[in-house]
Amino acid sequence: MGLLSLGTPLHWNEAKHYADHVRSHGIDQFLSVYRKLRDRQKQCLLWGDEVEFIVVKMDQENKESKLSLRVFDILADLQRPEQEYNSGTSTEPPETLWRPEYGRFMLEAIPGQPYGATFRDLMKVEASMKRRRQLAQEAMLPGEIPVSLVNYPRLGCPHETSPDHEPTGQAVQSLFVPDEITNPHARFPTLTANIRRRRGAKVEINMPIFHDKNTPRPFIDPTIPWDRDVFPHDKEAKNGAAKPDHIYMDAMAFGMGCCCLQITFQACNIDEARHLYDHLAPVAPIMLALTAACPIFRGYLADVDCRWNVIAASVDDRTPEERGLKPLENDRFVINKSRYDSIDTYICDDAMYKSKYNDLDLVYDKDIYKKLRENDVDDLLARHISHLFIRDPLVIFKELLDQDDEKSMDHFENIQSTNWQTVRFKPPPPDSDIGWRVEFRSMEVQLTDFENAAFSVFIVLVTRVILSFGLNLYIPITKVDENMATAHKRGAAVNDKFYFRKNVFPNLDGTTTESDDEYELMTMNEIINGQENGFPGFIPLIHNYLDSTNIDIETRCKLSSYLSLISKRASGELMTGATYLRHLVMNHPDYKHDSVVSPSITYDLINTVDKIARGELKAPELLGDFSA
Ligand code: ADP
Ligand code: MG
Ligand code: MG
Repeated sequence: MGLLSLGTPLHWNEAKHYADHVRSHGIDQFLSVYRKLRDRQKQCLLWGDEVEFIVVKMDQENKESKLSLRVFDILADLQRPEQEYNSGTSTEPPETLWRPEYGRFMLEAIPGQPYGATFRDLMKVEASMKRRRQLAQEAMLPGEIPVSLVNYPRLGCPHETSPDHEPTGQAVQSLFVPDEITNPHARFPTLTANIRRRRGAKVEINMPIFHDKNTPRPFIDPTIPWDRDVFPHDKEAKNGAAKPDHIYMDAMAFGMGCCCLQITFQACNIDEARHLYDHLAPVAPIMLALTAACPIFRGYLADVDCRWNVIAASVDDRTPEERGLKPLENDRFVINKSRYDSIDTYICDDAMYKSKYNDLDLVYDKDIYKKLRENDVDDLLARHISHLFIRDPLVIFKELLDQDDEKSMDHFENIQSTNWQTVRFKPPPPDSDIGWRVEFRSMEVQLTDFENAAFSVFIVLVTRVILSFGLNLYIPITKVDENMATAHKRGAAVNDKFYFRKNVFPNLDGTTTESDDEYELMTMNEIINGQENGFPGFIPLIHNYLDSTNIDIETRCKLSSYLSLISKRASGELMTGATYLRHLVMNHPDYKHDSVVSPSITYDLINTVDKIARGELKAPELLGDFSA
């Protein structure tokens, strides 16, 4: 999450009248950058990761954990070095940049400077992540800890925040979470409320419950205040929003309160960025499944292992017409997905691309498409941008309505940054030296710095093999969507199969013959570790690549330990975070085999993962011989 604009945010009733204004200037802003910077070349790779933490307050005496809402005090401390550097009172560049996130219990940390292109840079990642955890810890009060769990397992259960608040806030109107859970910066309560206002109802999130032997069938959640009558929306749960056999959630915080691990790369030029975007898209669901670390929601074990669909539903602002539930009258499009979802269209029109890979009937704004085409934007890129621009801007600051479209990207970013997709194509900001970038967004944050470093480095090396071996990873985009659904399943990394391309080596000119376009269902082990007579696997490809480079032994050893972790996760020799957390719950003495993750289980779980992250406790099922 970048820096936040300040100003007066508009209520949806007013904001909607400016939607076309924002879109139209957003497109002008994009065109301005496109015109000026489409030929920008960058010599070297720059890249960086984003790690998010939740802040938990541990009461060791009473053996209780609470989600701490004190993040703003903590951030004030953490951001001081950056502020002093920016204001010139210090000449020391900050080692870490700290950013607020949606939740008032979340911290986002990125390295002070992006990493460079060398193998030595890959060695900086884990140390940087360790340092970030340490800095976060130092800025907290005794008892508070930064935890790199995807979500707080009992978020939305009564009395789970510190300080305690009743769930009766106007902005969220949730049956479960208070307004105070949201970052108080005007952008976030407005985003939350405007999503509800635009949708015409609260968001509806239903994740299948994991049925254990004592879980009632059907499972009708006794903890939902079915008959509450504070807000008109309270009746939605009873009227069908809360589904039997599911964990029902009704607020953006359940999704946007989840932590992830994202990687941004700067490409040499726009073409390489588009190329990476396309070939990373099929990798995104695979990495979601492999990094799955989120099996608990609102105090219950779920039958899914990861966060993505929860976030997708938590920001789904589509109206009933847009969701296809009513005939189109007031809205312009029926839209197949939430704003937070896997990508809908490939964007690179080089020799490898074939139109049949874009087999999803793309919804896009025809007028915007036309304007882009008239301004020399090619078909695929125009389709991508005009697809993003089917959405309305959700938060508009009154003071920022009029901008210099040659200098600002605010209106473009308003729409772009609320299209939360698995990969993001990022144009250079105007007046910067930054190149064309791609962000890889599907991974779940891991419990330890070692794992987060391993997955970050792995993705960097995947981009290196994609580029140096000229890999062709295209499969039809509808199959990528199917893989996203599969990735959520409990234990998908070892039990399920994913569509993947059989022959990834194109002809010398980049083209492929029709017969080379085959794909098939593969296990995670095959995709990562390779098939005997088929896809060679990412890890062997990476080792091949490393063999061809001049790399010192120490670095190679460290990289091998990262690759080995990933290889073992894929083969099932090591557990994913989700499986590990599930086991912790199911083997806890207080667990009654009824899917309930009680306060005492949560306290012990957080204690355990914190000890693992600090290297005080070994977790061989999760990490093997590696130590955090
Ligand atoms: P967003 O808010 O869009 O998610 P950020 O601006 O917070 O992205 O940055 C995300 C990551 O990009 C960080 O890890 C940062 O180090 C990295 N980064 C910054 N500048 C560059 C660059 N020129 N090229 C590649 N990555 C960069
Ligand atoms: Mg973030
Ligand atoms: Mg990001």
